[in-house]
Amino acid sequence: MSDNATAKTKTSLAGLNLTFLAPTDGAQTAPAAPPPQTAAGKPVEARVVIVGSGPAGLTAAIYAARANLAPVVIGGVVGGGQLMITSDVENYPGFPDGIQGPELMALFRAQAEKFGARIVDADVDRVDLGSRPFRLWADGVEYRAETVIVATGAEALWLGIESETRLRGRGVSACATCDGFFFRDKEIAVVGGGDSALEEALYLTRFASKVHLIHRRDAFRGSRIMQDRAANHPKVELHLNRTIEEVLGADHVDALRLGKTDGPGEERLAIQGLFVAIGHRPNVAVFRDWLETDEKGYLRNGGATTASNIDGVFVAGDVDDHRYRQAVTAAGEGCRAAIDAERWLESQETHPPRATTAGAVTAR
Ligand code: NAP
Repeated sequence: MSDNATAKTKTSLAGLNLTFLAPTDGAQTAPAAPPPQTAAGKPVEARVVIVGSGPAGLTAAIYAARANLAPVVIGGVVGGGQLMITSDVENYPGFPDGIQGPELMALFRAQAEKFGARIVDADVDRVDLGSRPFRLWADGVEYRAETVIVATGAEALWLGIESETRLRGRGVSACATCDGFFFRDKEIAVVGGGDSALEEALYLTRFASKVHLIHRRDAFRGSRIMQDRAANHPKVELHLNRTIEEVLGADHVDALRLGKTDGPGEERLAIQGLFVAIGHRPNVAVFRDWLETDEKGYLRNGGATTASNIDGVFVAGDVDDHRYRQAVTAAGEGCRAAIDAERWLESQETHPPRATTAGAVTAR
């Protein structure tokens, strides 16, 4: 796309002022469909309800909308998924100069709405997948769906120590994009050994005078390129074989008490901020009684398809994926789920069901 084929648009998302490029080369952008309305007490009926508005949910919405299925996306009060708290995304195809996570999600959302997806910024608090139409409740509204795509993603994990909880928001954070700015010229630490920790450590070098990267083992599990960048960055100091035993400070972070996994003794590390980047937990709570999970707590799908254990319910994205967990793999699975849902709806029209086969998961 040439430079003059785009126009810069300002938007505000998650407290960030963003600038993104919108096409102006004659492409008509339909006004976003209004969120579903109901008369008091009347359920919203939809062919496809998608739960979640990260890359998986919004890609499913784009495909389902373009298949004329008029999907309703119940996207969560804080929509957009993990990319809303991700800074530079350099590996999403199509953005050779990288793109900020929230900016990418704003584009996903605009594209879904352009094709008629209706997006509701509410959390699903209850579901009944025991009979069809499936029923879901969010913010006091009941939704009835012929088919459901679950794309609820995963959320950040915490270390689980008391001092971390006490000092959360007072120097302890799990979101470098949100809070990095507050640590300009300060010495800070990041804990974790995966891509998230490496990425956050590098991102935080923009603000901090020094970033200590603390990992409990002697080898990182993040990608080689990120490891090399962190190891070679003049502001990053690696602390391998170290655990955080305590975050020290009365009402703000002063230091860390570190344990050693390669020998006896402890260390004290003076820092003013701690960023926790140790992985994620799938958001399965409202579906736990209905959908099967694996040994790590992620939803199970059919492998070759995105089908869950309930006929007509499909799963996509990080909620079923602890292996890849990339925006692009989540988007790909959202596409697969929408196609699976579309074909399933077609099969129901050809061979209407005699009775639902849905049943609650019993063995937990
Ligand atoms: P992850 O790969 O699961 O890594 C979690 C890290 O935290 C591991 O190194 C783990 O240590 C450590 N850890 C877990 N619990 C801990 C605890 N209680 N105390 C101390 N350390 C703890 O998670 P992630 O880094 O969030 O990445 C998730 C997925 O997203 C990965 O597939 C990753 O490649 C991908 N990702 C990609 C990008 C990108 O490409 N731009 C960015 C972010 C994430 P051990 O190693 O000892 O288990």
